[in-house]
Amino acid sequence: MAHTNASESLTLTSEIPQIVAGLRATFDSGRTKPLSWRRAQLRALRRMLTEERPTLEKALRSDLGKPPVEAHTTEIGFVVNEIDHTLRHLASWLRPQRVSVPVALAPARARRVREPLGVVLVVSPWNYPVNLSLAPLVGAIAAGNAAVLKPSELAPATSAALADLLPRYLDTSAVAVVEGGVPESTALLAERFDHIFYTGNAAVARIVMAAAVRHLTPVTLELGGKSPAIVDPGVDLATTARRLAWGKFTNAGQTCVAPDYVLAVGDTAEPLQRELAAAVTEMFGTDPATSADYGRIVNERHFDRLSALLDSGKVVAGGRTDREELYIAPTVLGDVEPDTPVMAEEIFGPILPVVRVPDLDAAIRFVNERDKPLALYAFTDSDTTKRRLTTETSSGALGFGLPIAHLAVPDLPFGGVGESGMGAYHSAASIDTFSHTKSVLDKSLLMDTMRVAYAPVSQAKERILRRLL
Ligand code: NAD
Repeated sequence: MAHTNASESLTLTSEIPQIVAGLRATFDSGRTKPLSWRRAQLRALRRMLTEERPTLEKALRSDLGKPPVEAHTTEIGFVVNEIDHTLRHLASWLRPQRVSVPVALAPARARRVREPLGVVLVVSPWNYPVNLSLAPLVGAIAAGNAAVLKPSELAPATSAALADLLPRYLDTSAVAVVEGGVPESTALLAERFDHIFYTGNAAVARIVMAAAVRHLTPVTLELGGKSPAIVDPGVDLATTARRLAWGKFTNAGQTCVAPDYVLAVGDTAEPLQRELAAAVTEMFGTDPATSADYGRIVNERHFDRLSALLDSGKVVAGGRTDREELYIAPTVLGDVEPDTPVMAEEIFGPILPVVRVPDLDAAIRFVNERDKPLALYAFTDSDTTKRRLTTETSSGALGFGLPIAHLAVPDLPFGGVGESGMGAYHSAASIDTFSHTKSVLDKSLLMDTMRVAYAPVSQAKERILRRLL
């Protein structure tokens, strides 16, 4: 089988070419193409998620201190929903689509036909290690591909659980798990794939894309960045603060689409900061370290990186840390200047800076002067503001009144733009990503209506051709 248990040793890099060759042989045999195979695999994956829920919850708890309900809503249950939606609509997504044929070619039929790409590589990160491994896999399988999954070595318990469980439920001749870090990823990237689906940071994305060049392999890059949240004066600040706190402090802020920072327009900063502090206490109590609903930082490296950002502004809420426990309190920083360290890179942790901007124009300028974010959020009652943000800014997604939840709308493609990524997935968008759309033109040989196009071109033919085309 294509994996070994993480506690023993990870997949040997020398085994990787053989693993990929095995998957290619399976794909070439046509095994993964029938709708029945795809459905059976998706159902088996669903069964795994329900039967093995305790194992997965335990792994997520061990890697990220993830509370079980959060593990359900953002990971396990999320993928179950993705599977259910896919099973419901797959046949219609795969149905060939008739398109009309120009008069000059009539009578003929034309259609768009989906075909799987072949063998795809899915490389996933540590922050939602179940969701971000399995949601792409759902798309890869639904589109009829064979696949290798390379989970993140930084969520080792979840990586080991997936490597152990997936082969017990899925067709091992078509789906393999390769555990490991840089050496294993590098060995995988040396292989020829028909698509590479990478989720993670933009520095590694460049390595992935450079490797893909060699085999002219298409890539999907699901990256991150600083996703701003603009707060307009006059909105319900208590509701806004609760929703911001929810979006930011879920998974201790280690969410690619978490609001990275707030742009408080006009005089909203002071009252918003007060409401944010109140929302944190309401959700996690006066000592969030004891809250059953609050997670931990993934490792010491990220803990140290985040701790160094805490003096970038005035601590309005939180601020407490415990390295032993990898705990950083849900923290709100007020009076943050744009040139402070916390505003330099994606925070990816439970620190929410509030930056003042005088008006909407300044907020839009602030956003547009920086890399295109994975998500832009705005809390506003104004349709004009919504319209302006829709047309005057660019981001992977745009959320009014609620952060991160666009992910839960199955038919909204999920992906970034510019530095936040390329390509998208979820539901039908996954079928687009993991399929080739083949153009098929079908013209009968019974009657040769094409004679007019053949040489020699007489004056009569020329008149007809010029009229038709
Ligand atoms: P990570 O460190 O787990 O890396 C991601 C994957 O890349 C892992 O499987 C890892 O083994 C592999 N990798 C690391 N170095 C490599 C190399 N040199 N060559 C090939 N592969 C290599 O995760 P991360 O990058 O810290 O993830 C966090 C980032 O991902 C953040 O920027 C976050 O915003 C982004 N993210 C984006 C999404 C999204 O859906 N758009 C989701 C989650 C995270």
